[in-house]
Amino acid sequence: MKENPFWWEGTIRQRFQKFDPKKLGYADVVIIGGGLSGLSAAYHLKQSEEFRDKTIVVLEAELIGSGATGKSGGFLAPSVEADVIDVIHEFGKRGGEIFWNLKTDLAKKLVELIKRHGIKCDLKNVGSIYLQTDDSEEWRRYFRKEAALRKSFGYETELLTRDQLHRFLGPVDSFYGGIYNPNEYCINPMLFLIGFAAVCNNLGVSIFEKNKVLGVKYENGKNIVRTEHGDITANRVIYACWTDILKFVKLKEAEKSYTFLLATPELSNQILEEIGVREGLMLWDAVPPPQFTYFRILRKRLLFGGFTTFKEEKMEKVYSDLKERMLSYFPPLKKLKNPVEYFWHGDFLTMGFDERPGIGYIENTDEKQIFIFGPGLLFAFLCGIMARDWLVRKLSRETEMLNSIDKRYFSKRSIASKFPRLTKALIDWTIFR
Ligand SMILES: Cc1cc2nc3c(=O)[nH]c(=O)nc-3n(C[C@H](O)[C@H](O)[C@H](O)COP(=O)(O)OP(=O)(O)OC[C@H]3O[C@@H](n4cnc5c(N)ncnc54)[C@H](O)[C@@H]3O)c2cc1C
Repeated sequence: MKENPFWWEGTIRQRFQKFDPKKLGYADVVIIGGGLSGLSAAYHLKQSEEFRDKTIVVLEAELIGSGATGKSGGFLAPSVEADVIDVIHEFGKRGGEIFWNLKTDLAKKLVELIKRHGIKCDLKNVGSIYLQTDDSEEWRRYFRKEAALRKSFGYETELLTRDQLHRFLGPVDSFYGGIYNPNEYCINPMLFLIGFAAVCNNLGVSIFEKNKVLGVKYENGKNIVRTEHGDITANRVIYACWTDILKFVKLKEAEKSYTFLLATPELSNQILEEIGVREGLMLWDAVPPPQFTYFRILRKRLLFGGFTTFKEEKMEKVYSDLKERMLSYFPPLKKLKNPVEYFWHGDFLTMGFDERPGIGYIENTDEKQIFIFGPGLLFAFLCGIMARDWLVRKLSRETEMLNSIDKRYFSKRSIASKFPRLTKALIDWTIFR
């Protein structure tokens, strides 16, 4: 089994220097984590009047892209994992519409950014299909309602019958219909992040790779950030290393989830024809367990990923279930001796965040240490905007939208009061070990 995803081939090398405390002893803002959240925070801060001329430093423990962002499936689809029915259930009709519009706006904004800066990341406007895997009347009704709601929000949507699916899936017969959203994009997430880091660097953000942060101490109104290669003093610190948070803080009773992704070896033209899935087209279902799976063809391989709340020790079972599901959806793959070339799984925290982005500050630091998180690429991008807004004390269009759904986003003590355990754990971590 391969250790790294195939789309990393030719990309893995250190691009940014190691941190040298003799050359840089102070920064206005230190961002911990060079994934999409951290780079988005750096980018948006550098674009603001208030921070344009300030020293902004990103400290990345490994290489840019080696976290969740680079490993992701690269779906930029606002509709994935966000059924309008669920969103309305949570926020009401008006709030649900704002939440949906926010996600679609973010997708547009990110695509514009990629085009504006000429980031070469295999950006493709391929659309997505939410597949109906159960033919019961209940599910048919659900899909009709979901499609009607998306249309009512002005989102380009087509409800597909089983026969109409063959336009996209060739002879594959495992699905009973679907919801097609034609105007959605996918990217090669690794190439995107590398390109985005270069954009930030050109704007004046200092990025350091292979430079793990070991802890942060707040003293006399300043943060001392201890790294593997020396200390740096910072006026402000942004923790943008959410997906790795469990590695350095202990959160009792936090609910862990697991993401996983497998990939086939390169497929022959004949098998690709038999499967008939258009390159790039993003597909996913909604069948537990595992919670749901998503798939697409990328560079002649099938990517098949998903998400579960199973315990880690059951990962072998998750793997075999996933493989079985892939083979049942795409029977031509049964002809392969080894249909899986790559399997990766990792944990991340849900803690009941309801798939929403968040921001909070660490108590007893005069709000000079904040943490951000955003599940999914679009919300990871958004939480960087939230960090900028928090620091410049202005609401952007995006944070206005969030606030109009739920006032807690930018209210004082928001996350601290909602998630006291997390804040406590981060405070513990900020003391040097
Ligand atoms: C397999 C998989 C598939 C996915 N597919 C999709 C998808 O198709 N579409 C979608 O929208 N979302 C997808 N996601 C989710 C999405 O990738 C993440 O929500 C998003 O990338 C999170 O970005 P981040 O910046 O918070 O985290 P990361 O990209 O993980 O960045 C955090 C960074 O912090 C660094 N770090 C950690 N600790 C330290 C430290 N002590 N010092 C310095 N640096 C540190 C890490 O090395 C890492 O690079 C997927 C996730 C996975 C894992």
